[in-house]
Amino acid sequence: MDKFLISSKSLSSRQEERRDINNDCDSSSTMREEPLPKKQKQHRDFNEKWLTDITFKNWISKREQECGMITAYCKVCNCSVNNHKPALVKHMNTTKHLQNISSKSQTTPIQQMLKSKPEDELKKRAELKICAFLAQHNLTFSLMDI
Ligand SMILES: [Zn+2]
Repeated sequence: MDKFLISSKSLSSRQEERRDINNDCDSSSTMREEPLPKKQKQHRDFNEKWLTDITFKNWISKREQECGMITAYCKVCNCSVNNHKPALVKHMNTTKHLQNISSKSQTTPIQQMLKSKPEDELKKRAELKICAFLAQHNLTFSLMDI
């Protein structure tokens, strides 16, 4: 029966050992240098004034990211830029951005290329009138070439 009973002395000594072990662990964990928490990026909101600012308005737009955040977006480079004025200025002075700006200024926009001239509009109206006249009077299409 004695072998099943644990004496109070032995039990208390075991508990003390455990405490010592725990203390050792605690002391070792405090001795270890834990890595410092990484600096979290500060979230800044998009400033609407940038859209009208002379330095940015030619290339900046705002775009909603997949996570729902609204960030500054460079229309020339097709890339997003941090919502921070120094970051915008830094992007504006990168060689990539400057090259893209210069190449954009040399190209003509497609809307301007597709614009019809006033003479073309007059030709279209004349052709439409001839077609309508032929259809209205049930004339042959061969008359159109005359
Ligand atoms: Zn850019």
